[in-house]
Amino acid sequence: MSDANHYSQCDPERVAPHKDVEVEVETAASRRVFQITEEEYEELRESYGGYCVACRDEAYGVEPDARGYACDSCGKPTVFGIEELLMRGLAEFVSDSA
Ligand SMILES: [Zn+2]
Repeated sequence: MSDANHYSQCDPERVAPHKDVEVEVETAASRRVFQITEEEYEELRESYGGYCVACRDEAYGVEPDARGYACDSCGKPTVFGIEELLMRGLAEFVSDSA
């Protein structure tokens, strides 16, 4: 019975509408994480700053736990707040005097 294989190749459940964003995020994470100091982290949290993982531009007016906001620079829904970036492993702390 080879008919079953033909059907499974075009399974509609495999086409997820928001897959692009997740792929974008995974690609960005494997490429390079944002490196910030604890000082920068405090500043970003207080000033509602975040980053776009697609074009790596800074974004403002972003809650620390925001995710999937539209980027002003590239238009993709890949802006994350600073806490969310850290939780996802997209950002990491570096020491200022390194
Ligand atoms: Zn962007």
